[in-house]
Amino acid sequence: MDPIELARETELCKNCKNVVVGKGNDNADILFVGEAPGAKEDLEGIPFVGAAGKNLDKLLDKIGLSLEDVYVANILKCRPPENRDPNPEEIRAHTPWLLKQISEIKPKVVCSLGNYATKFFMASGKVEDMKNQEGITKLHGKVREIEINGQEIKLIPLFHPAAIIYRRSLIDDWERDMEIVKKEISQRSLF
Ligand code: URA
Repeated sequence: MDPIELARETELCKNCKNVVVGKGNDNADILFVGEAPGAKEDLEGIPFVGAAGKNLDKLLDKIGLSLEDVYVANILKCRPPENRDPNPEEIRAHTPWLLKQISEIKPKVVCSLGNYATKFFMASGKVEDMKNQEGITKLHGKVREIEINGQEIKLIPLFHPAAIIYRRSLIDDWERDMEIVKKEISQRSLF
């Protein structure tokens, strides 16, 4: 089935206000992947426009990046009711759309934000293997080459911007991790 239709057939998509596809530069070298839209994103149809999004903007600005330099999307394209965690069937139905976005954008680096996105990529898109993956506390800032859907991807897991709003030490970690992201991008552009 077409990846977009597959996601649109889910109860999540039938019951949400807006399907949230992505934002930013669809030619960007860096793709950020979050978990799922929240209430504000559902209302506006745009990812990361609520509190987590404001923090993401601030964090990007600190290291000299903007939406012109990155693309931002989510594992799920629709908000789960009451912001509950995504379940495996939903991830299975929604991520082919994300993989389609990756094959079109062709980013040099994918930054997975938080546990769900990180485990999805670490499991190479095999949803049943996500539960066997380590969490973001262990993996953040470590660069890995992974293969997903026949594509080679450089993955750099980062803490989710919602998790670090009031946690100074994690903000320092985020900034250090982003220096690694920037280094990867500049190295790649030499070729
Ligand atoms: N959190 C996410 O993971 N994605 C959004 O779009 C908003 C909040």
